[in-house]
Amino acid sequence: MDPIFKYCPNCKSPHLIFDKGIKITCTDCDFEFYHNTAGAVAVIIQKEDKILLTVRNKDPQKGYLDLAGGFIDPAETAEFSCVRELKEELNIDIDKTKLQYINSNPNTYLYKNILYNTIDLFFLYRDDHLLIEDFDTIELKGFLWKKITEIDIDELAFESQKKTLSLLKKQLNKG
Ligand SMILES: [Zn+2]
Repeated sequence: MDPIFKYCPNCKSPHLIFDKGIKITCTDCDFEFYHNTAGAVAVIIQKEDKILLTVRNKDPQKGYLDLAGGFIDPAETAEFSCVRELKEELNIDIDKTKLQYINSNPNTYLYKNILYNTIDLFFLYRDDHLLIEDFDTIELKGFLWKKITEIDIDELAFESQKKTLSLLKKQLNKG
């Protein structure tokens, strides 16, 4: 695997080893850089029997359906990250005590030629009275409500979402 940078940030040597996509080591000065998995949250907002999907307005996966969420900032709890992301993306204030953890799935996110590994933590947030105003931003081209059973999994932007939503679909079909 190619290192995410060409020269050692410490001694400028080109002799870098990128071991298993986890650690970049300089063989000249022993500099080490960990390309750790980043934590991210994704919130499945449910209103009655429908869930909210946003439409991505930028790459990666422009035009595909997405869940509200994003990277967890340093020193932030996953729950607070959900609150912050939903305020930023949808301009809604949620009660974080009503967030229900579902599961986690790994994902990759290619941004400006750097492959980020994430662990996406999925939460369910149910509010039958939720009101969200229309919007159109650089990041998102609005949103839509769909029944889980009617979601085409291939329209989803990321593998982790495909896995978790497929699981929820199966559970709904059983029950
Ligand atoms: Zn070096």
